[in-house]
Amino acid sequence: MRTFLYQRAREPNEAVQLAAAANPASARSRNKVEYLAGGTTLTDLMKLDVAQPDVIIDINPLTETGHGRIELSQRGLRLGALVRMAEAADHSGIRSQYPVVAQSLSQAASQQLRNMASLGGNVLQRTRCTYFRDVSYSECNKRNPGSGCAALTGFNRMHAVLGGSDQCIATYPGDFAQALIALEAAVEIAGRGGSRTIPFANLHRKPGDTPDQETGLRPGEIITSFLIPAAPWTRRSLYLKVRDRQSYEFALASAAVALDQQDGIVRTARIALGGLATVPWRAVEAEAFLRGKSVNEQNAAGAASAVFAGAKGYGYNDFKIELGKRTLIRALQQAAALEL
Ligand code: FAD
Ligand code: SF4
Repeated sequence: MRTFLYQRAREPNEAVQLAAAANPASARSRNKVEYLAGGTTLTDLMKLDVAQPDVIIDINPLTETGHGRIELSQRGLRLGALVRMAEAADHSGIRSQYPVVAQSLSQAASQQLRNMASLGGNVLQRTRCTYFRDVSYSECNKRNPGSGCAALTGFNRMHAVLGGSDQCIATYPGDFAQALIALEAAVEIAGRGGSRTIPFANLHRKPGDTPDQETGLRPGEIITSFLIPAAPWTRRSLYLKVRDRQSYEFALASAAVALDQQDGIVRTARIALGGLATVPWRAVEAEAFLRGKSVNEQNAAGAASAVFAGAKGYGYNDFKIELGKRTLIRALQQAAALEL
């Protein structure tokens, strides 16, 4: 591991100032400063030499100043960025009123990792693409812009069938983000110019021609919390994750589904897919298809076909198109049948 400067911040503003002092405005040096929350992604990538920060700013003291708090009210759910995954997954109010949130977290990683890892770090975790994580591969546009993409013609079984480009097809690996995007969450961010709130859907960027730029965060910005609005569909919600083994594994395909139904007819559907796309993927075509219909087998299949109409396989991952459809169909049927 390389040497780095370690600092601690007690408030978001202090963190932002430390980052600014360490990182002159140049976007080129944006990756040289990293925040440390649970460290379960960052230290992994440092050991692999994929991440090479000069300065690490430990933001765990923010937990004591309110950023590790869960607030549940009639208006919605507010989750501090330093809340641990396990804490949110086990919260009784979240489990009953926002089950898709609790389930997306409880099905992620392992108990030990969930005890350590924060929600802010979770949404910013990096792809598990082997070619990205192993620096002995020279071709990786995400790690080394302009070098090519080894996965396009390589072993791409885990890679994306939605949202890819001819520069990168790496899958967004997390689970929690699908719950956030389906429930139309917002994310609060602190930066040099003050605070701002953006739709969570605007946080991640598709690879396009710049796969190295994964989010819309500006240099030094810090996520402070997530806001999930209360809505009639949050209780009838679930997260279905399909993977190579039943625990401690990333998704091959997953679906976050939330439904508002009256007399068996869908008034509103909120749907997101994971394991299949380069970013947390809101399935707007499926949502529109289901409006005013019942969730029977035929309609669920119609919704799934609508989402995957533009999907593209790259060889080893072709099976994900059918797997993704089946995952969504099963999730929709299970959500529609929930007894509340
Ligand atoms: P850190 O490692 O501390 O930080 C990660 C990144 O986010 C860093 O770049 C850091 O600078 C930045 N960062 C952290 N907090 C903030 C903030 N508040 N504002 C701005 N930037 C910030 N995840 C899943 O979803 N599903 C899985 O199935 C899954 N399986 C896993 C299996 C293994 C073996 C491992 C090691 C991880 C797995 N994970 C999985 C990923 C795990 O959930 C993430 O590593 C974890 O959530 C990251 O959170 P952290 O607090 O440890 O982040
Ligand atoms: Fe790199 Fe993306 Fe290609 Fe993987 S898919 S090798 S992360 S450019």
